[in-house]
Amino acid sequence: MLCRSNEELIEFVKEAREAAKHGKVAEYIPALAKADPHSLSIAIFYPDGTCVSAGDIEKKITLQSISKVVSLALVLMDREEKEVFSRVGMEPTGDPFHSIAKLETMSPAKPLNPMINAGALVVTHLLKGNGVEGRLQSLLSFTREMADNSQVDFSEEVALSEYQSSFLNRALAYFLKQHRVIQEDVEELIDLYTKQCAIEMNCLELARIGMVFAMNGLDPVSGKQIMPPKVARICKTFMVTCGMYNASGEFAIKVGIPAKSGVSGGIMGAVPGVCGIGIFGPALNEKGNSAAGIKLLELLAKAYRLSMF
Ligand code: GLN
Repeated sequence: MLCRSNEELIEFVKEAREAAKHGKVAEYIPALAKADPHSLSIAIFYPDGTCVSAGDIEKKITLQSISKVVSLALVLMDREEKEVFSRVGMEPTGDPFHSIAKLETMSPAKPLNPMINAGALVVTHLLKGNGVEGRLQSLLSFTREMADNSQVDFSEEVALSEYQSSFLNRALAYFLKQHRVIQEDVEELIDLYTKQCAIEMNCLELARIGMVFAMNGLDPVSGKQIMPPKVARICKTFMVTCGMYNASGEFAIKVGIPAKSGVSGGIMGAVPGVCGIGIFGPALNEKGNSAAGIKLLELLAKAYRLSMF
């Protein structure tokens, strides 16, 4: 059984919105602090090109950590899997996304997975292209293709706001550079990474990208295989094991779908073979996931038996 009507979805949104009361908007990136903590929107995109939605779905949000899945997919298409995983691992950390702790005890200094900031910085470092601009453009065109909107771009305001306040990410990058995991200039890498995180789109476009992952890299509407099934499978596996930070285990039990969240309050879900989900609810819980977004996914998973387990 699938959710086929906006009215049904609106009821779930009403119930889930209550959970936002216990959440807080991210403030460490000053531009994100302006978000309305009570807003909640969702879109579900089906492989036949139809979608259902509720809330302010025209509103654009920045991808933040959700972009880590997109950059990983592109890097895995451009480089050998062996090369990528010689620099970043495949294991969950159980630590918050920006934690530096385990890096120091790892020998060699290899971030545990591509969904934590240290690992994502390595993946961004591996993006191919000419300079920051060329690598950004390559990531943008890949994103635009999946979102089916050639206008998708990054928010200059959010990128700059994060660039000016990225002290911890700079620390991670310098650590990685010291240990020769990355070679490039740290300022350049932070410039590219903050632009990547500031790529913005609405819930519908986010759901569409989730749908491409759900369909193993195939865009069923255009008929184009956007990424090899193996790349989509690797990304979805990371979404299950590390996509919701150090709350991924609980999320797998309560919801049971590959999903990735970001500090802007976005969540991208990919229900294998069924649909893509895009959610925006900026008030975050103590683990940094959208409080209302998680509640909404729990309600939907129960009502429509979404769990893959
Ligand atoms: N841009 C954010 C950062 O690096 C992304 C983190 C997140 O969404 N959890 O801090």
